[in-house]
Amino acid sequence: MPSGSEFGLANLPYGIYSDNAASAGGGPRVGVRIGDSVLDLARVLADDVFAEPSLNAFMAQGRARWSEVRAQLTDLLSTEQHRGPVEAALRPLSAVRLHLPFTPGDYVDFFGNEYHAANAGRIFRPDGEPLTPNWKHMPIGYHGRSGTIVPSGTPVPRPCGQRRGSGGPTFGPSRRLDFEAEVGFVVGADSAGPVPVGAFADHVFGVFLLNDWSARDLQAWESQPLGPFLAKSFATSVSPWVVPLEALEHAWVSPPPRDPEPLPYLADAGRQGLDLALEVRLNGHRVASPPYAGTYWTAAQMLAHMTVNGAPARTGDLFGSGTVSGPDRDQRGCLLELSWGGAEPLTLPDGSVRSFLEDGDEVTISATAPAAGGGRIGFGEVTGRIRPALG
Ligand code: MN
Repeated sequence: MPSGSEFGLANLPYGIYSDNAASAGGGPRVGVRIGDSVLDLARVLADDVFAEPSLNAFMAQGRARWSEVRAQLTDLLSTEQHRGPVEAALRPLSAVRLHLPFTPGDYVDFFGNEYHAANAGRIFRPDGEPLTPNWKHMPIGYHGRSGTIVPSGTPVPRPCGQRRGSGGPTFGPSRRLDFEAEVGFVVGADSAGPVPVGAFADHVFGVFLLNDWSARDLQAWESQPLGPFLAKSFATSVSPWVVPLEALEHAWVSPPPRDPEPLPYLADAGRQGLDLALEVRLNGHRVASPPYAGTYWTAAQMLAHMTVNGAPARTGDLFGSGTVSGPDRDQRGCLLELSWGGAEPLTLPDGSVRSFLEDGDEVTISATAPAAGGGRIGFGEVTGRIRPALG
Protein backbone atom coordinates (compact mmCIF):
# COMPACT_ATOMS: atom_id res chain seq x y z
CA MET A 1 0.00 0.00 0.00
CA PRO A 2 1.37 3.46 -0.87
CA SER A 3 2.44 5.45 2.18
CA GLY A 4 0.26 8.47 2.77
CA SER A 5 -2.91 6.59 1.83
CA GLU A 6 -6.07 7.91 3.49
CA PHE A 7 -7.01 4.25 3.96
CA GLY A 8 -3.97 2.90 5.77
CA LEU A 9 -3.75 1.15 9.11
CA ALA A 10 -4.82 4.31 10.95
CA ASN A 11 -8.26 4.17 9.34
CA LEU A 12 -9.72 0.67 8.71
CA PRO A 13 -13.33 1.69 7.95
CA TYR A 14 -16.06 -0.93 7.72
CA GLY A 15 -18.52 -1.48 4.89
CA ILE A 16 -20.64 -4.08 3.11
CA TYR A 17 -19.54 -5.34 -0.29
CA SER A 18 -20.23 -8.07 -2.80
CA ASP A 19 -18.16 -9.30 -5.71
CA ASN A 20 -19.12 -7.96 -9.12
CA ALA A 21 -18.35 -11.32 -10.69
CA ALA A 22 -21.22 -13.72 -10.18
CA SER A 23 -18.72 -16.57 -10.32
CA ALA A 24 -17.03 -15.22 -7.18
CA GLY A 25 -20.02 -16.40 -5.16
CA GLY A 26 -20.96 -15.14 -1.73
CA GLY A 27 -23.55 -12.47 -1.02
CA PRO A 28 -22.97 -9.07 0.56
CA ARG A 29 -20.72 -9.29 3.61
CA VAL A 30 -18.53 -7.18 5.86
CA GLY A 31 -15.30 -5.78 4.51
CA VAL A 32 -12.67 -3.38 5.74
CA ARG A 33 -11.08 -0.98 3.30
CA ILE A 34 -7.29 -1.02 3.17
CA GLY A 35 -5.74 1.10 0.42
CA ASP A 36 -7.74 0.42 -2.72
CA SER A 37 -8.76 -3.07 -1.62
CA VAL A 38 -11.41 -4.65 0.58
CA LEU A 39 -10.55 -7.29 3.16
CA ASP A 40 -13.06 -10.12 3.64
CA LEU A 41 -13.45 -10.23 7.43
CA ALA A 42 -15.49 -13.43 7.63
CA ARG A 43 -12.61 -15.14 5.88
CA VAL A 44 -9.64 -13.74 7.79
CA LEU A 45 -11.30 -13.75 11.22
CA ALA A 46 -13.35 -16.94 10.72
CA ASP A 47 -16.39 -15.33 12.36
CA ASP A 48 -19.86 -15.55 10.81
CA VAL A 49 -20.90 -12.19 12.27
CA PHE A 50 -18.95 -10.77 9.32
CA ALA A 51 -20.78 -12.92 6.80
CA GLU A 52 -23.93 -10.87 7.49
CA PRO A 53 -25.17 -8.41 4.83
CA SER A 54 -25.05 -5.52 7.31
CA LEU A 55 -22.83 -4.28 10.14
CA ASN A 56 -25.67 -4.46 12.68
CA ALA A 57 -24.82 -7.82 14.27
CA PHE A 58 -21.19 -6.82 14.77
CA MET A 59 -22.10 -3.32 15.96
CA ALA A 60 -24.48 -4.82 18.55
CA GLN A 61 -21.57 -6.67 20.19
CA GLY A 62 -20.37 -3.46 21.82
CA ARG A 63 -17.33 -1.31 22.32
CA ALA A 64 -14.99 -3.90 23.83
CA ARG A 65 -15.54 -6.19 20.86
CA TRP A 66 -15.05 -3.30 18.38
CA SER A 67 -11.66 -2.62 19.97
CA GLU A 68 -10.73 -6.28 19.96
CA VAL A 69 -11.47 -6.66 16.24
CA ARG A 70 -9.59 -3.48 15.38
CA ALA A 71 -6.55 -4.77 17.27
CA GLN A 72 -6.79 -8.13 15.47
CA LEU A 73 -6.98 -6.40 12.09
CA THR A 74 -4.04 -4.15 12.89
CA ASP A 75 -2.01 -7.20 13.80
CA LEU A 76 -3.09 -9.16 10.71
CA LEU A 77 -2.27 -6.31 8.36
CA SER A 78 1.06 -5.37 9.87
CA THR A 79 2.66 -8.77 10.50
CA GLU A 80 4.65 -10.41 7.74
CA GLN A 81 3.64 -13.95 8.73
CA HIS A 82 -0.01 -13.17 7.90
CA ARG A 83 0.72 -11.82 4.42
CA GLY A 84 -0.39 -14.92 2.52
CA PRO A 85 -3.83 -15.37 4.14
CA VAL A 86 -4.48 -11.61 4.06
CA GLU A 87 -3.63 -11.26 0.37
CA ALA A 88 -5.91 -14.20 -0.41
CA ALA A 89 -8.79 -12.37 1.31
CA LEU A 90 -8.31 -9.03 -0.48
CA ARG A 91 -10.40 -7.91 -3.43
CA PRO A 92 -9.66 -4.77 -5.43
CA LEU A 93 -12.28 -2.05 -4.95
CA SER A 94 -12.79 -2.02 -8.71
CA ALA A 95 -14.07 -5.61 -8.53
CA VAL A 96 -16.71 -5.11 -5.84
CA ARG A 97 -20.04 -3.39 -5.35
CA LEU A 98 -20.60 -1.40 -2.15
CA HIS A 99 -23.94 -1.49 -0.33
CA LEU A 100 -25.61 0.26 2.58
CA PRO A 101 -23.19 -0.38 5.45
CA PHE A 102 -25.89 -1.00 8.07
CA THR A 103 -29.61 -1.62 8.23
CA PRO A 104 -31.04 1.76 9.23
CA GLY A 105 -33.17 1.97 12.34
CA ASP A 106 -34.66 5.27 13.40
CA TYR A 107 -33.22 8.28 11.62
CA VAL A 108 -32.97 11.76 13.10
CA ASP A 109 -31.54 14.73 11.29
CA PHE A 110 -30.29 17.65 13.37
CA PHE A 111 -29.74 21.33 12.63
CA GLY A 112 -26.67 21.73 14.83
CA ASN A 113 -24.42 24.09 12.85
CA GLU A 114 -24.88 27.75 13.77
CA TYR A 115 -23.61 29.15 10.46
CA HIS A 116 -26.12 27.06 8.54
CA ALA A 117 -29.00 27.64 10.96
CA ALA A 118 -28.48 31.41 10.96
CA ASN A 119 -28.13 31.60 7.17
CA ALA A 120 -31.24 29.44 6.65
CA GLY A 121 -33.12 31.63 9.16
CA ARG A 122 -32.12 34.80 7.30
CA ILE A 123 -33.20 33.31 3.96
CA PHE A 124 -36.47 31.65 5.05
CA ARG A 125 -37.50 34.27 7.64
CA PRO A 126 -35.92 37.57 6.54
CA ASP A 127 -38.02 39.59 8.97
CA GLY A 128 -37.25 37.49 12.06
CA GLU A 129 -34.25 36.67 14.22
CA PRO A 130 -31.83 34.32 12.40
CA LEU A 131 -31.97 31.76 15.23
CA THR A 132 -35.16 30.66 16.98
CA PRO A 133 -35.21 31.25 20.79
CA ASN A 134 -34.63 27.56 21.55
CA TRP A 135 -31.66 27.06 19.21
CA LYS A 136 -28.81 27.61 21.69
CA HIS A 137 -30.55 25.60 24.41
CA MET A 138 -30.87 22.28 22.60
CA PRO A 139 -29.90 20.56 19.37
CA ILE A 140 -32.98 20.97 17.16
CA GLY A 141 -33.88 17.94 15.05
CA TYR A 142 -36.67 16.12 13.26
CA HIS A 143 -37.37 12.48 12.53
CA GLY A 144 -36.43 11.50 8.99
CA ARG A 145 -37.54 8.53 6.94
CA SER A 146 -35.21 5.54 7.33
CA GLY A 147 -36.89 3.65 4.48
CA THR A 148 -35.51 6.10 1.92
CA ILE A 149 -31.89 5.95 3.06
CA VAL A 150 -29.92 4.84 0.01
CA PRO A 151 -26.30 3.90 -0.63
CA SER A 152 -23.93 6.21 -2.43
CA GLY A 153 -24.39 6.09 -6.19
CA THR A 154 -28.15 5.54 -6.11
CA PRO A 155 -29.86 7.93 -8.56
CA VAL A 156 -32.22 10.44 -6.94
CA PRO A 157 -35.44 11.24 -8.84
CA ARG A 158 -36.56 14.85 -8.49
CA PRO A 159 -39.43 14.86 -5.95
CA CYS A 160 -42.88 16.28 -6.65
CA GLY A 161 -44.96 18.13 -4.11
CA GLN A 162 -46.83 21.26 -3.14
CA ARG A 163 -45.24 24.65 -3.54
CA ARG A 164 -46.46 28.06 -2.45
CA GLY A 165 -47.96 30.07 -5.35
CA SER A 166 -49.40 33.55 -5.65
CA GLY A 167 -52.84 32.13 -6.40
CA GLY A 168 -52.62 29.25 -3.93
CA PRO A 169 -50.40 26.18 -3.84
CA THR A 170 -49.37 24.38 -7.01
CA PHE A 171 -48.16 20.80 -7.49
CA GLY A 172 -45.26 19.50 -9.52
CA PRO A 173 -41.55 18.65 -9.61
CA SER A 174 -39.47 20.64 -7.15
CA ARG A 175 -37.88 23.74 -8.69
CA ARG A 176 -35.46 24.29 -5.82
CA LEU A 177 -33.79 20.93 -5.28
CA ASP A 178 -30.73 21.03 -3.05
CA PHE A 179 -28.13 18.90 -1.27
CA GLU A 180 -27.02 19.16 2.35
CA ALA A 181 -23.46 18.09 3.25
CA GLU A 182 -23.65 16.39 6.64
CA VAL A 183 -21.76 14.10 8.97
CA GLY A 184 -23.64 10.95 10.04
CA PHE A 185 -23.33 8.86 13.20
CA VAL A 186 -24.57 5.31 13.70
CA VAL A 187 -25.52 3.71 17.02
CA GLY A 188 -23.83 0.35 17.56
CA ALA A 189 -24.64 -0.71 21.10
CA ASP A 190 -28.23 -0.38 22.35
CA SER A 191 -29.24 1.82 25.24
CA ALA A 192 -32.49 1.19 27.11
CA GLY A 193 -32.63 4.79 28.27
CA PRO A 194 -30.79 8.10 28.20
CA VAL A 195 -27.20 8.15 26.93
CA PRO A 196 -25.24 10.77 28.92
CA VAL A 197 -22.92 13.02 26.94
CA GLY A 198 -19.93 11.22 28.50
CA ALA A 199 -21.17 7.77 27.36
CA PHE A 200 -21.17 8.63 23.64
CA ALA A 201 -18.29 6.32 22.72
CA ASP A 202 -19.93 3.36 24.48
CA HIS A 203 -22.84 3.51 22.05
CA VAL A 204 -21.81 5.15 18.79
CA PHE A 205 -19.94 2.79 16.49
CA GLY A 206 -18.71 5.18 13.84
CA VAL A 207 -18.98 8.14 11.51
CA PHE A 208 -19.87 8.46 7.83
CA LEU A 209 -21.03 11.08 5.30
CA LEU A 210 -24.62 11.89 4.55
CA ASN A 211 -26.40 13.93 1.89
CA ASP A 212 -29.80 15.13 3.11
CA TRP A 213 -31.37 15.94 -0.27
CA SER A 214 -33.85 18.79 0.26
CA ALA A 215 -36.61 20.35 -1.87
CA ARG A 216 -36.54 23.97 -0.68
CA ASP A 217 -39.81 25.03 -2.34
CA LEU A 218 -41.71 22.14 -0.73
CA GLN A 219 -39.92 22.82 2.56
CA ALA A 220 -40.79 26.52 2.61
CA TRP A 221 -44.51 25.77 2.22
CA GLU A 222 -44.89 22.73 4.48
CA SER A 223 -42.49 23.30 7.37
CA GLN A 224 -44.51 25.61 9.62
CA PRO A 225 -45.37 24.59 12.31
CA LEU A 226 -44.02 21.01 12.55
CA GLY A 227 -40.81 21.05 10.53
CA PRO A 228 -39.63 19.28 7.38
CA PHE A 229 -41.74 16.42 6.01
CA LEU A 230 -41.94 15.51 2.30
CA ALA A 231 -39.25 18.06 1.38
CA LYS A 232 -36.61 15.75 2.82
CA SER A 233 -38.14 12.26 3.10
CA PHE A 234 -37.74 11.23 -0.56
CA ALA A 235 -34.04 10.27 -0.33
CA THR A 236 -31.03 10.48 1.97
CA SER A 237 -27.71 9.17 0.62
CA VAL A 238 -25.02 7.69 2.86
CA SER A 239 -21.37 6.86 2.20
CA PRO A 240 -20.29 3.21 2.03
CA TRP A 241 -17.55 3.35 4.71
CA VAL A 242 -18.15 3.76 8.43
CA VAL A 243 -15.04 5.13 10.13
CA PRO A 244 -14.83 3.72 13.66
CA LEU A 245 -14.45 6.22 16.51
CA GLU A 246 -11.07 4.71 17.42
CA ALA A 247 -9.70 5.86 14.05
CA LEU A 248 -10.60 9.46 14.96
CA GLU A 249 -8.44 9.80 18.09
CA HIS A 250 -6.42 12.65 16.50
CA ALA A 251 -9.52 14.45 15.24
CA TRP A 252 -11.26 15.36 18.50
CA VAL A 253 -11.36 19.10 19.23
CA SER A 254 -13.15 21.40 21.62
CA PRO A 255 -16.50 22.61 20.27
CA PRO A 256 -17.17 26.36 19.93
CA PRO A 257 -17.62 28.41 23.14
CA ARG A 258 -21.09 27.99 24.67
CA ASP A 259 -23.20 31.07 25.24
CA PRO A 260 -25.36 30.52 27.21
CA GLU A 261 -24.20 27.40 29.02
CA PRO A 262 -26.53 24.55 28.10
CA LEU A 263 -28.59 22.77 30.74
CA PRO A 264 -26.58 20.22 32.80
CA TYR A 265 -27.66 17.17 30.77
CA LEU A 266 -26.12 18.83 27.70
CA ALA A 267 -22.92 20.05 29.39
CA ASP A 268 -19.79 19.33 27.33
CA ALA A 269 -17.76 16.31 28.42
CA GLY A 270 -14.35 17.14 27.01
CA ARG A 271 -13.18 17.46 23.43
CA GLN A 272 -16.20 16.06 21.59
CA GLY A 273 -16.06 18.20 18.47
CA LEU A 274 -14.55 16.61 15.38
CA ASP A 275 -12.07 18.28 13.04
CA LEU A 276 -13.36 16.90 9.75
CA ALA A 277 -12.68 18.73 6.46
CA LEU A 278 -15.58 18.23 4.04
CA GLU A 279 -15.58 18.93 0.33
CA VAL A 280 -18.57 19.22 -1.98
CA ARG A 281 -18.29 18.78 -5.75
CA LEU A 282 -21.06 19.57 -8.21
CA ASN A 283 -20.53 17.92 -11.60
CA GLY A 284 -16.89 17.51 -10.66
CA HIS A 285 -16.32 21.14 -9.66
CA ARG A 286 -15.52 21.93 -6.04
CA VAL A 287 -18.24 24.28 -4.78
CA ALA A 288 -17.66 24.18 -1.01
CA SER A 289 -15.18 23.11 1.67
CA PRO A 290 -17.21 23.04 4.89
CA PRO A 291 -15.24 22.65 8.17
CA TYR A 292 -17.10 20.43 10.64
CA ALA A 293 -15.03 21.50 13.68
CA GLY A 294 -17.00 24.74 14.11
CA THR A 295 -20.36 22.97 14.45
CA TYR A 296 -22.05 24.24 17.62
CA TRP A 297 -23.71 21.07 18.93
CA THR A 298 -21.59 17.94 19.22
CA ALA A 299 -22.76 14.48 18.23
CA ALA A 300 -22.55 13.48 21.91
CA GLN A 301 -24.97 16.27 22.81
CA MET A 302 -27.27 15.20 19.98
CA LEU A 303 -27.43 11.60 21.22
CA ALA A 304 -27.90 12.76 24.82
CA HIS A 305 -30.75 15.02 23.74
CA MET A 306 -32.55 12.47 21.60
CA THR A 307 -32.59 9.92 24.44
CA VAL A 308 -33.12 12.22 27.45
CA ASN A 309 -36.89 11.66 27.37
CA GLY A 310 -36.36 7.93 27.85
CA ALA A 311 -36.47 6.89 24.20
CA PRO A 312 -34.05 4.00 23.67
CA ALA A 313 -31.20 4.09 21.18
CA ARG A 314 -31.05 0.95 19.08
CA THR A 315 -28.43 -0.71 16.93
CA GLY A 316 -28.64 0.85 13.47
CA ASP A 317 -30.21 4.12 14.58
CA LEU A 318 -28.50 6.98 12.81
CA PHE A 319 -28.41 10.72 13.12
CA GLY A 320 -27.13 13.53 10.93
CA SER A 321 -25.28 16.62 12.13
CA GLY A 322 -27.31 19.04 10.06
CA THR A 323 -25.79 20.90 7.13
CA VAL A 324 -22.15 21.70 7.81
CA SER A 325 -21.26 25.30 6.98
CA GLY A 326 -18.55 27.75 8.01
CA PRO A 327 -18.25 31.55 8.13
CA ASP A 328 -16.98 31.95 4.56
CA ARG A 329 -19.08 31.73 1.43
CA ASP A 330 -17.13 28.78 0.03
CA GLN A 331 -17.70 26.91 3.31
CA ARG A 332 -21.49 26.71 2.94
CA GLY A 333 -22.77 23.15 2.75
CA CYS A 334 -25.89 23.57 0.58
CA LEU A 335 -27.02 25.53 -2.48
CA LEU A 336 -29.66 27.40 -0.46
CA GLU A 337 -26.79 29.18 1.29
CA LEU A 338 -24.29 29.14 -1.60
CA SER A 339 -26.79 30.89 -3.92
CA TRP A 340 -28.46 32.79 -1.04
CA GLY A 341 -31.87 31.42 -1.86
CA GLY A 342 -31.29 31.88 -5.60
CA ALA A 343 -30.38 35.59 -5.32
CA GLU A 344 -26.67 34.96 -6.02
CA PRO A 345 -26.35 32.07 -8.52
CA LEU A 346 -23.07 30.19 -8.72
CA THR A 347 -21.07 30.11 -11.93
CA LEU A 348 -19.15 26.84 -12.25
CA PRO A 349 -15.75 26.65 -14.00
CA ASP A 350 -17.42 25.14 -17.10
CA GLY A 351 -19.59 28.27 -17.41
CA SER A 352 -22.80 26.63 -16.20
CA VAL A 353 -24.85 28.58 -13.68
CA ARG A 354 -26.72 27.07 -10.74
CA SER A 355 -29.01 28.29 -8.00
CA PHE A 356 -30.42 24.81 -7.40
CA LEU A 357 -29.87 21.34 -8.88
CA GLU A 358 -30.83 20.48 -12.45
CA ASP A 359 -31.67 17.04 -13.80
CA GLY A 360 -28.44 15.17 -14.51
CA ASP A 361 -26.44 17.05 -11.86
CA GLU A 362 -24.16 14.94 -9.72
CA VAL A 363 -23.26 15.89 -6.14
CA THR A 364 -20.30 14.26 -4.38
CA ILE A 365 -19.36 14.87 -0.75
CA SER A 366 -16.01 13.69 0.63
CA ALA A 367 -14.10 14.29 3.86
CA THR A 368 -10.81 13.70 5.62
CA ALA A 369 -9.70 13.88 9.25
CA PRO A 370 -6.31 14.36 10.93
CA ALA A 371 -4.34 11.25 11.84
CA ALA A 372 -1.06 10.68 13.66
CA GLY A 373 2.07 12.42 12.43
CA GLY A 374 0.30 14.99 10.26
CA GLY A 375 -1.36 12.35 8.06
CA ARG A 376 -5.03 12.25 7.06
CA ILE A 377 -7.59 9.49 7.04
CA GLY A 378 -10.38 9.47 4.46
CA PHE A 379 -14.11 8.95 4.64
CA GLY A 380 -14.39 8.20 0.94
CA GLU A 381 -17.39 9.84 -0.64
CA VAL A 382 -21.15 9.86 -0.97
CA THR A 383 -22.41 10.65 -4.44
CA GLY A 384 -25.73 10.83 -6.24
CA ARG A 385 -27.13 12.08 -9.55
CA ILE A 386 -30.49 13.79 -10.03
CA ARG A 387 -32.94 12.08 -12.38
CA PRO A 388 -36.04 13.69 -13.86
CA ALA A 389 -39.21 13.47 -11.76
CA LEU A 390 -41.01 10.14 -11.98
CA GLY A 391 -44.00 9.81 -14.27
MN1 MN B 1 -30.37 18.18 6.97
